[in-house]
Amino acid sequence: MSAERLGNIADILSRGSCLTEDPELFFPVGSKDPNIANALKICGGCDVRQLCLDWAMLKPQQDGIWGGTTPEERIRVRREERERSLGFTTTTTTANALGTPKEQF
Ligand code: SF4
Repeated sequence: MSAERLGNIADILSRGSCLTEDPELFFPVGSKDPNIANALKICGGCDVRQLCLDWAMLKPQQDGIWGGTTPEERIRVRREERERSLGFTTTTTTANALGTPKEQF
């Protein structure tokens, strides 16, 4: 999906479940921050989760919770996609690597 089709992130976020939440929840400090679980739960009920995730993967966003994923999950998927594009075989696809937020609990 192109950036033009996705629109801008401000529009996506204006329709997101995080709109009325504390933004700091979505920018945890380290991978053990307890805010991560809360942010992922909020993303799990968000109507624009897929758009948000597509945007975060396309830009790409290095920090924060976007589209129900952590930075580490997005890095792993990007690495797997790069390996696949170079002809390495992997057993995971982007879709099942990220799963849905509900599957992450
Ligand atoms: S998926 Fe998460 S970060 Fe993205 S708009 Fe929805 S609640 Fe906000």
